Amino acid sequence: MSDFEGIKALVTGGASGIGRATADLLAERGAQVAVLDLDPSSVDKPLLAYRADVTDDASVRQAVTAAVTDLGGLDVLVNNAGIGAQGTVEDNPDDEWHRVYDVNVVGMVRTARACLPHLRASAHAAIVNTCSIAATAGLPQRALYSATKGAVYSLTLAMAADHVREGIRVTCVNPGTVDTPWVGRLLDAAPDPAAERAALQARQPTGRLVGAAEVAGAIAYLASPLSGATTGTSLAVDGGMQGL
Ligand code: NAD
Repeated sequence: MSDFEGIKALVTGGASGIGRATADLLAERGAQVAVLDLDPSSVDKPLLAYRADVTDDASVRQAVTAAVTDLGGLDVLVNNAGIGAQGTVEDNPDDEWHRVYDVNVVGMVRTARACLPHLRASAHAAIVNTCSIAATAGLPQRALYSATKGAVYSLTLAMAADHVREGIRVTCVNPGTVDTPWVGRLLDAAPDPAAERAALQARQPTGRLVGAAEVAGAIAYLASPLSGATTGTSLAVDGGMQGL
C-alpha cells in the first residue's frame, strides 16, 4: 500500500469502530487526519477532533471548515457515521425511518456537500462511503437499515458519475458483521451475550467477525492513489457472507 504522506483526510464517525480504525490506519500511514463525531472526547493525537452532528447542517459546515483550515486542505473524505435499526416494515414508525435516514443518508450528503469545494482543489481527491452488505443482501429484520444502505449504494454510483470529471473518485465499502462497539452493544442487550456472540460467529463463513482494521484496510485502499482508476465501485469486506 502506498503511504499517505501529504494526504489530508476527514473521517466522520471516527471516534469509534470502523471510523476510528480507519483514522488510525491513515494516520499510521502518514496522513493528517481529522475526526468528526458526535462525541470525539476519546480521540487523541495525532488525530484532530471536531464535534459535529451529521444531522445538523450548520454543525457539519462549521466542523468541516475548522478541520480543513487546521489540516491546510482536504484530499480524502471517509463518510462513515451511521446508526443501526432493527425490525421489519411493521416495527419502525415513520419518525424512526426519518431519523435513521437522516443520519445514514442525508448525513453523508451534508458532509459531502461541505467537503466537495475543498476536494476539487486536491490532486488525489477521494470519497469513501461506508455502506453495508445490507444494501444488497436482503437481510431479515433489517428493513429500515437496509433501505438506508441501499440509498448509500446508489448515492455512491450517482456521485461517482457527477464528480469523475472533476477528478474526485467516489466509492464505498460494504462490510459484513464487524466487531465494533456497535455490535458489542447489540450483543450485550441479549440475555446471554457470550452465547449470542458464539452464534453470530458460527453464522460467519470464516467462523469469526470481520475486524474493524480489515474494513479500514479496504477504505485506505479506495482512498489511496493505488485505486486511482477506480470510481463508483463497492468493495465487500464481509468474510464471504455475500456468497451465502
Ligand atoms: P460505532 O457505533 O462503533 O461508531 C459509529 C460512530 O459514529 C460513533 O463514534 C458515533 O458517535 C458516530 N455517530 C453516530 N451518529 C452520528 C451523528 N449523527 N453525527 C456524527 N457522528 C455520529 O459503529 P460502527 O460499527 O463502527 O459503524 C460505522 C459505520 O459502519 C456505520 O455507517 C455502519 O452502518 C457501518 N457498518 C457497520 C457494520 C458492523 O457490523 N459494525 C457493518 C456494516 C456497515
